[in-house]
Amino acid sequence: MKAEVFIAGGGVGGLALAAKLASRGLHVIIAEQLKKESPAYKGELLQPKTLAILERLGVLDEIEANGHALDELRFQEVHRRQGQPPEEINLTELSYSRVATTYDHSLMVPHEKTKEILRNKGMEYEEYFHYLPGARFLGFENGMAKVKQKKEILYIQAGVYIGAEGRSSPTRDAMNVEVNRKDYNHHFLTVTIPRPESFTKGKIITTSSCFLGLFPLPDREVRTVFLIKAGDYKKIKELGLEHLYKAYSELEPELAEGVRAIQDWKTVQLMIPFTYHVDKYYSGNLAILGDAAHTVHPMAGEGMNLAVQDADVLGELLAWCWEEGKSYADHLHYYEEVRKPRVEFLLNLSHMSALVYSFRYEWWRRFRMKAVQRIFDDDYLHVKQMLNISGLGKWDFTFIDRGIQGNVLPVRKKKVSDQEQQHFLFSEAEDYPWKRSKKGR
Ligand SMILES: Cc1cc2nc3c(=O)[nH]c(=O)nc-3n(C[C@H](O)[C@H](O)[C@H](O)COP(=O)(O)OP(=O)(O)OC[C@H]3O[C@@H](n4cnc5c(N)ncnc54)[C@H](O)[C@@H]3O)c2cc1C
Repeated sequence: MKAEVFIAGGGVGGLALAAKLASRGLHVIIAEQLKKESPAYKGELLQPKTLAILERLGVLDEIEANGHALDELRFQEVHRRQGQPPEEINLTELSYSRVATTYDHSLMVPHEKTKEILRNKGMEYEEYFHYLPGARFLGFENGMAKVKQKKEILYIQAGVYIGAEGRSSPTRDAMNVEVNRKDYNHHFLTVTIPRPESFTKGKIITTSSCFLGLFPLPDREVRTVFLIKAGDYKKIKELGLEHLYKAYSELEPELAEGVRAIQDWKTVQLMIPFTYHVDKYYSGNLAILGDAAHTVHPMAGEGMNLAVQDADVLGELLAWCWEEGKSYADHLHYYEEVRKPRVEFLLNLSHMSALVYSFRYEWWRRFRMKAVQRIFDDDYLHVKQMLNISGLGKWDFTFIDRGIQGNVLPVRKKKVSDQEQQHFLFSEAEDYPWKRSKKGR
């Protein structure tokens, strides 16, 4: 079999790339090992930059129709009281509308729905989009991709090979890159439960020792994420579902009824956060994207977004190479140069956010509460935080910012103007720098 581009893995990253390339007239073969939808939770929050990319792919209306918009994120600190509603001690609301963009919200969309929409988009270009379900990529043989589908072995020859297989990536193995994994002192339990219609805001509720993240989905459901100590899963399971019912009800009484919809531990997924970032994204005519290249702590909701954003830059580059008759191997460096520093930045941001919730001391909680509140009180911090997580731009935090956040320096009175923000939003020339360069390296 022959194609212009071979993609191993039909997750969000692989599908976004394939849909883009097929729309530009490149023959793409995409091998996905699964035959049907996976029931596993794999992230649902689409950040503003991802929405912009999905709009360019022509699927935003459908994505919006299947999503629940979050225009702000709430951080609520409470005292938990046995058998009683919690006492609120602080509430901070950070708003996407502080970012100077038309994409002024994030969107909660069931993971498989996003994939289905991307796959259907690709299939609109049926002449170019060749999706192989139940096809496992095994590695390379004689310069070709070796794929097993049913009992048959297929050899696929392509101009460029992309590894989008997620955390376990044969393409990455073939590239011989370094992967240094970092683990955390906590795990998460995650489960979707029903919510009342009025429960529409995304929020994180914390005490000094509890963390409950609540992110409404469409169809009156809410994704819940409950932090536990690393290694405590078995112990908590032994305490029974009543333990979970009680914890959820005491932290968020509005979900006291919904949480009882959990009838079996099988529906509760254990999520073990860790992080890594490879040292290189390409080698010859091989490249990797998404979780094959980096895994991020889920605290800032960036994993899926980084994969789609990688796919956007890589897709534009590959389409350009093909349209201009340029060699893929000679130009893949652009992909790494654009994406690696941005990913590194968001990996650090997510890591910092994870640390903020990693220690169970009252003094640490007081420090956290103040630091989060100061992001709201100081408009520079507010804009920077939301702009950075949106993926639309990058505005570094300075020592002064950290001093203000740490309550060492006073809050600035000045508001950030939309014009000032423009310097920090990614321009098309920054997203796709090869287009302005006359010759490749
Ligand atoms: C438990 C869990 C919870 C998560 N929670 C969040 C979250 O809250 N927010 C968030 O943004 N992100 C979250 N993530 C991360 C997010 O799922 C990933 O960052 C994102 O899906 C990466 O997309 P991807 O396309 O790179 O990889 P994946 O989505 O992992 O897709 C890879 C695809 O490749 C297929 N595949 C693998 N190996 C092969 C092979 N050899 N041959 C053929 N096909 C293959 C897989 O079946 C899969 O379909 C979570 C991930 C996990 C595992």
